[in-house]
Amino acid sequence: MLIVQKFGGTSVGNADRIKNVARRVAQTRAEGHDVVVVVSAMSGETDRLIGLAHQISALPDQREMDMLISTGERVTIALLAMALQESGVAARSFTGRQVGILTDAAHTNARIEQITAERLREALAEGVVPVVAGFQGINQRSDVTTLGRGGSDTTAVALAAALKADLCDIYTDVDGVYTTDPNIVPNARKLAKVSYEEMLEMASLGAKVLQTRSVEFAMKYQVPVRVRSSFNDHEGTLVTKEDQEMEQEVVSGVTYDKNQAKVTLLGVPDRPGIASKIFGTLARENTVVDMIIQNIGQGGMTDISFTVPKADARRAKENLTKLAEEMGVQEIQLTENIAKVSIVGVGMRSHSGVAAKMFSSLAAEGINILMISTSEIKISCVIDSKYTELAVRTLHDVFELSKTPPQKTEKGKPKAAKRVSK
Ligand code: ADP
Ligand code: ASP
Ligand code: MG
Repeated sequence: MLIVQKFGGTSVGNADRIKNVARRVAQTRAEGHDVVVVVSAMSGETDRLIGLAHQISALPDQREMDMLISTGERVTIALLAMALQESGVAARSFTGRQVGILTDAAHTNARIEQITAERLREALAEGVVPVVAGFQGINQRSDVTTLGRGGSDTTAVALAAALKADLCDIYTDVDGVYTTDPNIVPNARKLAKVSYEEMLEMASLGAKVLQTRSVEFAMKYQVPVRVRSSFNDHEGTLVTKEDQEMEQEVVSGVTYDKNQAKVTLLGVPDRPGIASKIFGTLARENTVVDMIIQNIGQGGMTDISFTVPKADARRAKENLTKLAEEMGVQEIQLTENIAKVSIVGVGMRSHSGVAAKMFSSLAAEGINILMISTSEIKISCVIDSKYTELAVRTLHDVFELSKTPPQKTEKGKPKAAKRVSK
């Protein structure tokens, strides 16, 4: 088999842990498999580099930012290649550029467009284990780009797809995907299997165990992904196609995202074309907008609120300032202390009362809801970030997620559900 193994920041957090990773890779080799390794920067390193940049500049140039934050992964590829060589495994480190990871030009949040992987194929043919820097690529001009926070997962899955690997193992500091973040809710339950679709929703709503784009790649190219711990040999969670054995719970997971900020435009003229101007401006700057709320207009004026990643919030506000002046907007407000708490589940498609239950349980804890958005398989609420943990625990409890779900009907099919709206 050809296996791509990805090790996250905690797994390569110090020299001993890097040696431990080398032992795992050596063992997989000894079992007769070909291995391509992808690593992140040592834990805390990317944050440290971003912090340094902000000591120099409030709005650092994005190209320089990528030049800076791509260095963390260069350290770990070299150290791991050395550790592998020490344990008698032929290994060679590669940057994103060296393995031909070509991306678009969106610095700090680039998308992979193509992977040539020539050097990887060469190394594999020679029996050498390639150790690839996650999170980075190059654009058309050969400038270094990075793939967004948590992007090493995407490097791993994209390489697995490009090389048609049999499996992509994501080794991290938890031993699988849980009903919610096990570091917040100790009785969260590990899922044996989760569908691409559900994982995509959980990831995009903040379950940072896998970067959203890695799940998109896995789904598109049907790469089986396993999430496992690098510190024990537990089974882990398989992310794969939806099947009959999978749980069809109404609510299967709770997620939270503290990395969003809310921008509010007060006193916006209520006329056609205004929203298109605002969001067109943000789109040109590659700012990803999540929730949008527009109030009912009064006296020809309205208010618009939307959420963006915290890292882009100041830039977004800055970019809108000129437009806001031209349009006669009264004020732009930025609120950073918010969190988005969501419940996810494919079974939600066919059940009613789920949203009401979510809102009433948050209300019972005195948690005010600032924004709401729903889709077929999720409901999200924006709240004050100081209530995040309380909200996650409450929802995990109310929807009884620590309980093992009941067995399916005899034919292995999930019980038929009434088709009613949320
Ligand atoms: P790595 O550095 O290995 O990429 P991350 O910190 O990016 O690791 O992702 C692992 C973390 O994801 C866990 O430590 C856990 O706190 C968090 N997490 C959030 N939601 C979940 C979930 N539903 N299941 C498992 N882990 C989760
Ligand atoms: N080092 C990068 C980050 O911290 C990429 C990753 O860890 O996946 O976001
Ligand atoms: Mg990660």
